[in-house]
Amino acid sequence: MAAFTDCYGCSVCLLSCPMWLQRRDVRFSVQGYAKAMQHGADAMAIKEPLSACIECGACQVVCPEHIDVMPTIAQLKGQAGLSLLAQSSQEALSGFVMSCDDAVQQQLGKDDLYIIDAAGFHAHHAGRVEHYTQLRDTTGCSMNLDLQRLAIPTGSMMLNSDGSDQLFDVEALVSWLIQGRSFERLVVENPADQAVLAKLTGKPVVQVKDLFGSNQNHAES
Ligand code: SF4
Ligand code: SF4
Repeated sequence: MAAFTDCYGCSVCLLSCPMWLQRRDVRFSVQGYAKAMQHGADAMAIKEPLSACIECGACQVVCPEHIDVMPTIAQLKGQAGLSLLAQSSQEALSGFVMSCDDAVQQQLGKDDLYIIDAAGFHAHHAGRVEHYTQLRDTTGCSMNLDLQRLAIPTGSMMLNSDGSDQLFDVEALVSWLIQGRSFERLVVENPADQAVLAKLTGKPVVQVKDLFGSNQNHAES
């Protein structure tokens, strides 16, 4: 993997970055971080843009230089005294694992909008694209995938962070995510998405693990 010193400023990562899409300011992107550091900035100097990063991982997937972005962002956030979002890799993993279950898949349908956990998805992008594409095709549900097969994040984890929610507009991103989509229910992998999506959509929101549990209970009764 390459490092921030290898960034040649192609700007591809800007287009997938929800932080940049909201601000249109290159400082709020991986390219901005890398260029600042190439010119001598340290983590403290880029603390504000670092705190706006929602750790969705999309930039790492698209970087043609294969820069090891996410570990570097984690390291820089630590150096700047910032906490990582309570990104629940375990919860994201379990969401993915449960989405593989036949019983869960049988409860998904065309009226569902299934919200993939973006960080977990991007961290294992090559393998998960195929899985989720198949899940969408077989169940008929829609998903938070864009045309490049990246998962559009919600940013909901930001609402639980240390006051950083002012730096990223979660409501704006969710509004953009659901715009023009037709659905009657949301199914989320990340528990942090449940409350904010229920509030902003007015639709019922269930966690994929709830589908798993309800089916198990039904099978046992
Ligand atoms: S992790 Fe997401 S929000 Fe952070 S820089 Fe990368 S694309 Fe942008
Ligand atoms: S995609 Fe990679 S090489 Fe291009 S600007 Fe972003 S970090 Fe730099």
